[in-house]
Amino acid sequence: MHSQGRRHGRHPAGDFSVAADEVTCQQFVELVTDYFEGALAPRMLSQVEEHLVMCDWCVAYVAQMQTTVDSLANLKDRSSREPPDLLLGALRSRTGR
Ligand SMILES: [Zn+2]
Repeated sequence: MHSQGRRHGRHPAGDFSVAADEVTCQQFVELVTDYFEGALAPRMLSQVEEHLVMCDWCVAYVAQMQTTVDSLANLKDRSSREPPDLLLGALRSRTGR
């Protein structure tokens, strides 16, 4: 669940013409799921990519997400032979103790 409040770092609310051109790290984190799903509007996508050019932290974040997404895809691929519930159950009984 996301909180409703949107903060404008440098600009008072109402003057969104400038703020809309910049993506903050916090916004980026919120947008990264859409980014991976290709659900961003072209304009937003270019802003996100612009942010990636100048922000090492978010590049690292994306790399980490990519690894997670990849490993999830691998897991899906492997477990297609078995019902995933079995895997989940095994994990739960392990961590339950
Ligand atoms: Zn950033």
